[in-house]
Amino acid sequence: MNNYNNYPVISIDEIIRPTHLVIDLNVLRENFKRIKEHVYPAKVMPILKANAYGHGLVRIAQLMQELKADYIGVAVLEEGILLRENGITLPILVLGGIWGNQIPIFLKHNLTITASSIEKLNQVDEIANQMNVKAKVHLKIDTGMERIGVHYYNAKKFLDAAVNMKNIIVEGIYSHFANSEKADLSYTRLQLERFQEVINYAEKIFVEKPLYHISNSGAILQMPEANFDMVRPGIMLYGVYPSSETKKTVEVKPALTWKSIVIYFKVIKPNHPVGYGSTWQTDHNVRAVTVPVGYGDGYMRSMSHKAEVIIRGKRYPVVGTISMDQIVVNIENDSAYNGDEVILIGSNGNSKITVEELAEWAGTIPYEILTNINTRVPRVYVE
Ligand SMILES: *Cc1c(COP(=O)(O)O)cnc(C)c1O
Repeated sequence: MNNYNNYPVISIDEIIRPTHLVIDLNVLRENFKRIKEHVYPAKVMPILKANAYGHGLVRIAQLMQELKADYIGVAVLEEGILLRENGITLPILVLGGIWGNQIPIFLKHNLTITASSIEKLNQVDEIANQMNVKAKVHLKIDTGMERIGVHYYNAKKFLDAAVNMKNIIVEGIYSHFANSEKADLSYTRLQLERFQEVINYAEKIFVEKPLYHISNSGAILQMPEANFDMVRPGIMLYGVYPSSETKKTVEVKPALTWKSIVIYFKVIKPNHPVGYGSTWQTDHNVRAVTVPVGYGDGYMRSMSHKAEVIIRGKRYPVVGTISMDQIVVNIENDSAYNGDEVILIGSNGNSKITVEELAEWAGTIPYEILTNINTRVPRVYVE
């Protein structure tokens, strides 16, 4: 078993660090299949940026290759290179902007470039010419996000320039939605109209028709008319919905469980505060356990005084501030033993703790909870 984080995992029972993630590949397979069926005949580009939303970039890419995904999307060049070095041969689009002298490295690794201005397109054309290769690019159109891309109202010039470049293959034209997870889809519709106009023009000038794509998870779930040739599911692939407002038109399930163990048991006497800053104390004797996880793993400190965990099928509160490497859990009069399983995200019996709950405790969105679980936490894959 290899977890790609340089942690020597022997087996799931003998894992060296008790705090670890268990990722169920069958759940991911099923989620992928459901998305694919839902958007058919559109192609699917699973989004694997930020360590595959915390699930482990290389292993998830291998799974996507096994499932014959059409494309893979990552955010930065280094993620693309890592995949090439690990035998991923699917087309890979790097979604972020390009800078400095990255272009030759893109071309060397056969990674698809996001071109977000005429100037950058010119640079790509020139370097591809020098290297005697054809550069694959997707043209990025800004329809209302104001991040990167050529504004929809300037897109004609951009497309005209791209058509005439000898060393460039325009494999795709894409944009990105800013609000597709919302119940109110008016801005998303406006973005869609703007994108459609750009496509109408592209249809007239490109001989080889590029792939048009704009839909992230929110749009896949709520706006099927925006599927075009390909969709780019991120968070929903991992079984998490982009927000509580989003319609759940595809049923997906979380693939990840975050576990640890009880490493210490004690009784806390009245008026003996717990943790840094002494922010919590009890007025009666309570039983408490210590669990070796903290904000140094991505168990966010902002969840202090709100977070709960599951031990022996029951939820208990985390007390005191969350430390870098440890938390304390108040189990009142119940019993727990060293080595007992502690669930931070996941379910046991009738108790369940979701990524959404952690996000609420931390005052953030599920995306940030997932991408914050860092590489100190070994990933274990089961099927
Ligand atoms: C992150 C990202 C996605 C996936 O978004 P989800 O909301 O996770 O589905 C799609 N496209 C682009 C350009 C992205 O940056």
